[in-house]
Amino acid sequence: MRVSAYLKNKQPIVYRTFSNALSKGTVTHSYLLMGEEGTPLKETALYLAKSLLCDHPDPLADETCVTCERVDKEEYPDLLVLDGSEKNIKKEEILSLVNDFQKTPMERKGVMIYIVNMVENMSIEAVNSLLKFLEEPTPNTYAFLTTRNESKVLPTIISRCQTLRLHLVPRYEVIEEAISFGVSQNDAEMLAFFYNDGSLIKERSESKAYQNAKAAFDRAIEGLDEGPSFARYTFEKDVTSALLDKPSARFFFDMLSVFFQDLVAKKVGDAVNLTSYDKILGELSQSLPHLEESLIAIMTLRGDIELNVNMSLLLGHLVNTITKE
Ligand SMILES: [Zn+2]
Repeated sequence: MRVSAYLKNKQPIVYRTFSNALSKGTVTHSYLLMGEEGTPLKETALYLAKSLLCDHPDPLADETCVTCERVDKEEYPDLLVLDGSEKNIKKEEILSLVNDFQKTPMERKGVMIYIVNMVENMSIEAVNSLLKFLEEPTPNTYAFLTTRNESKVLPTIISRCQTLRLHLVPRYEVIEEAISFGVSQNDAEMLAFFYNDGSLIKERSESKAYQNAKAAFDRAIEGLDEGPSFARYTFEKDVTSALLDKPSARFFFDMLSVFFQDLVAKKVGDAVNLTSYDKILGELSQSLPHLEESLIAIMTLRGDIELNVNMSLLLGHLVNTITKE
């Protein structure tokens, strides 16, 4: 993703605030990046971190030097990332991070940075350990925390950070931008639910996880359109075999959830978001028996992916819930 262009064009306040801090040497020890679902928080946190490490900053990272490339490849030892986007961050992870930061930096730059993505997803014990570390930062240590839900972050964490807020770009603008990068309308409309930036959509549309999920999704809705018994067969065979890893499975459930929200809208005559699927949305909104219940099942079963439930059983349960009379 082209984060520099994104910040410059779409998030000018964040861009100016951080550029000024870098030019004036007033970068603070900890930042909290806030933004709604879809805003590229982790990508932005990584980019700001890179700007402190870059060999030729201007004043932000050039994204082309050797150091920037090493950060992108996760090969820069003095930058650590904890990610709470899929599972809760535990106390042990914070303690291990604090321990690593007591050592001297490995790189000549002498700067150590940690990123905690989705800081709201931490156990209480982990938050307390992090708080202590935020209060007494070691010299030349910087933190970038992110959150999608400010109300779930302890005020004591917020008060120790400088906050930077990413605003949502209008959906139609994101879709248009993605299409201008060569993404199909169909993919752009779907991915705009998860990524609030055209270049990021382009990148993710080419990922293995999305392509697997998309193949499973298309087969799933075709199957459902053919009636209950064919749907069960399709889920058991094609859908299961396309979802062999967790990232693909998560994506599939998220896409199905978006699709069912549109089905509910279609049923009551509201406008849909996935206009490329208009025809099949019309058919399934009439033929599927209980859309709201199915939507809740999709969201609940999505959580079960993390419990390592057998995928074939999970999908069997899903299709039975969706098609039962
Ligand atoms: Zn660089």
